[in-house]
Amino acid sequence: MSSGSRQDIPSSRSTRALIDLDAIAGNLRAFREGVSAETRIMAVVKANGYGHGAVMVAQTALLHGANELAVATVDEGCRLRAAGIDSPILILGPIHPSEIPSALRADLTLAVGDREIVSILSATVPPGTPPVSVHLKVDTGMRRFGSSVDGAAAIAAHIAKSPGLHLAGTFSHFAAADEHDETATLQQQAAFDDALANIRAADIDPGTRHIANSAATLRSRRYDYDLVRIGISLYGIPPSADVELWSGMRQALTLHSRVHRVFAVAPGEGVSYGATYRATGHERAALIPIGYADGYHRILSNQSWMEIASTRAPVRGRVCMDQTVVGLQSDLSVTLGDDVVVIGDGRGEAPSLVDIAEMAQTIPYEIVTSIAARVPRHYIHSGRVVAVEDLHGLHSCHQPDSETQTS
Ligand SMILES: *Cc1c(COP(=O)(O)O)cnc(C)c1O
Repeated sequence: MSSGSRQDIPSSRSTRALIDLDAIAGNLRAFREGVSAETRIMAVVKANGYGHGAVMVAQTALLHGANELAVATVDEGCRLRAAGIDSPILILGPIHPSEIPSALRADLTLAVGDREIVSILSATVPPGTPPVSVHLKVDTGMRRFGSSVDGAAAIAAHIAKSPGLHLAGTFSHFAAADEHDETATLQQQAAFDDALANIRAADIDPGTRHIANSAATLRSRRYDYDLVRIGISLYGIPPSADVELWSGMRQALTLHSRVHRVFAVAPGEGVSYGATYRATGHERAALIPIGYADGYHRILSNQSWMEIASTRAPVRGRVCMDQTVVGLQSDLSVTLGDDVVVIGDGRGEAPSLVDIAEMAQTIPYEIVTSIAARVPRHYIHSGRVVAVEDLHGLHSCHQPDSETQTS
């Protein structure tokens, strides 16, 4: 990478996430080809697009066959509207009445699961405006949010006779679609079918029916209905060890940094807070400007490793808030500014997202959504950085940049 190539990138922070938009586009297209022909695709971009950046992911997904978007909160929906996105946006989570005016102004679709919120919503819609679309959430076994299966038809009827509201969809959510044993998922599907039948028996159109997340969609066509909600696997991440991605799908995010210091550690010297690592001989170490405040979890202390000069550099001592020390092989030629792969895509020496999640005793969902706002996201298209999102906002890069995904 030439130094001049970075001129147009507002942030030059060494620690950065590279987001391969071509991977996201390819993953979306694979779902488009794989699901039933009439089934619509909802790209789930909550939690800032699972840490990848909601605006760029949403735009990419819509360009490559997604029909709708979903986020968790009204705020997240408003942010997409502010970026000029005009596709339908479903708010998946339960809302508080105080959020209703913003939601209506931004033309967001709301999930409702009880009579109270339906009544409050209906009373808020100004008379004479077009009806507000809502999706009825039915709890078929997650025990989190939604009407009961038996109560769904009554709430659907309440929506149908509420002025200003339109029942645009009916949905549910699987609790265990990523587990090897599919029994619970099939039971939830049967409960969803019961709720839909009850709604129809009351002579009400349930609208767009949907229940599948990534795991259910990857597994079988039986869960497709009218729409599938694709989150984790849009980003090229398998939902669990029991559910594989389809061939051709690949991880979009990798986390990179650079060596900011190379130094020697004498025998017996302790490294970082609490001296939890002590050098056994004359050792070399490198300082990497990434820490737990970036989303590089402290539990990775003395456990994880990074890729430097095609070798594995083990984390030495505790991960600090902003910095981490790694060990270097004694004969390795490493200097200030050398590239470091902190989280790879499984192809090189760096730990993959799945490796990092295992070491951190969590799931890849939590790793990607923990990557802090201060870590710039560099968006790659056809091998070039086309945009950067950092603390100052989203900037497109008009100058060609030679940075590629792997170095
Ligand atoms: C997050 C979420 C999804 C997407 O789940 P993935 O496992 O990431 O595909 C779908 N539906 C609801 C209700 C969600 O909250």
